[in-house]
Amino acid sequence: MNQPDEIVIVGAGLIGLSLAAALARNGIQVSVLDTNPRPELSAEPKLTTRGNRLDAGGISRVSAVNPGSQIFLSQLGAWERIDPSMVSPFYGMEVWDGRGTSRIQFGEVGSTAASPLGFIVANNRIELALIEVLEELDNARVDFGLGLADLKREETGYSVALSDGSTRCCSLLVGADGGNSKVRDLVGIRNVSWSYKQTAVVTTIQTAEPHGQVARQCFTQYGPLALLPLSNPHLCSVVWSLNDPELLLGLDDEAFCRELDENFEHETGSVLAVEQRTSFPLQQQHALRYISDHVALIGDAAHTIHPLAGQGANLGFADARILAQVLAAAKLEGRGFSEKSVLARYQRQRGPANLLVAGAMEVFKRLYDTDNPGINWLRNAGMRFIGEHGQLKSLIIRLASAS
Ligand SMILES: Cc1cc2nc3c(=O)[nH]c(=O)nc-3n(C[C@H](O)[C@H](O)[C@H](O)COP(=O)(O)OP(=O)(O)OC[C@H]3O[C@@H](n4cnc5c(N)ncnc54)[C@H](O)[C@@H]3O)c2cc1C
Repeated sequence: MNQPDEIVIVGAGLIGLSLAAALARNGIQVSVLDTNPRPELSAEPKLTTRGNRLDAGGISRVSAVNPGSQIFLSQLGAWERIDPSMVSPFYGMEVWDGRGTSRIQFGEVGSTAASPLGFIVANNRIELALIEVLEELDNARVDFGLGLADLKREETGYSVALSDGSTRCCSLLVGADGGNSKVRDLVGIRNVSWSYKQTAVVTTIQTAEPHGQVARQCFTQYGPLALLPLSNPHLCSVVWSLNDPELLLGLDDEAFCRELDENFEHETGSVLAVEQRTSFPLQQQHALRYISDHVALIGDAAHTIHPLAGQGANLGFADARILAQVLAAAKLEGRGFSEKSVLARYQRQRGPANLLVAGAMEVFKRLYDTDNPGINWLRNAGMRFIGEHGQLKSLIIRLASAS
């Protein structure tokens, strides 16, 4: 039998693990489980190329971690466990309209003297650092290869039926189980969702010129294309959100490199080689509530947004940080974790903030998804206006840095 106040988190992705670590660090008994096996690091990536095919060790799933999330991960004791040579800070950001004339620069393009705007890190490195933290704490338990099968409402919380036939009781159940959250569905929290009708093609490329620790994004004829600088100065992670993925997914490596060159306007010299491509269908969704009786949702289980500004995980880390703060305060006040007024504090703090970012992403997506000449003019004028007003740029950076 569990401790009476044990919190069970379903989903040991970036966000579920960070919440578990934040709770355990506050002396709260917590367990987290995931259907996936424990993540692993591939052997030290060796860079090889054959023709236009790159093998960079399969590091294609990375996140742009903003400074607010980096501080949170550092407070959890996870950030310092990530091999620094695998963390790539970026100091500048360039955004331009491939079909227009406008271009904005943020931060210090060409300099590393300023503070970084963010850090590109492989997701599995962050996950493993958080798992190491949890494995050292007596009040935390992490189980991989174990899924949520069903839920039964009990008087004092939930009885969680697991895929191995066992059950776990908890007074607070946290759904950190991603966009297709089973927790959200089983407890009946309604969700508004729609497909962006885009698929993100993700890969790693090798370029002739160094990236200069600048993150770049171009709004191309096919959809937004982001190049995120990796620790090797000639490697970038590519996220290309495509309206019609078949057009580019079917290309061989040489033709794909050529498309990248043409659409990216040779910003980092020619694209020499590309790793195997993977794809993710994109959709926007938002749970109508993040909380229910004895339940809270965090991360993608609560909200999924377009990856064009690299904010999804950052919003999730902020959810985890605030929920942990709210629950730690409840513990100090001698209140139950699942009291409505306790969970409502979390909903109040995170709901509007997440909706604001989701709304902004929607506007961006729509503005750049049209060839209407009036809208083209408007977005180029808007970009130029932002580019010419330093205070506005600083405000955007501050907002994007904190989530
Ligand atoms: C192409 C792309 C690029 C992105 N780039 C960025 C970026 O640069 N910066 C950024 O901030 N965000 C980025 N994002 C968004 C970011 O990846 C997500 O917001 C983030 O990974 C969500 O984490 P999560 O832990 O909430 O969910 P997930 O990563 O989906 O994790 C959910 C976990 O729950 C587990 N699970 C599911 N069902 C069950 C069950 N029934 N029982 C047990 N376990 C279960 C899954 O196995 C999984 O491990 C990007 C997204 C995409 C698609």
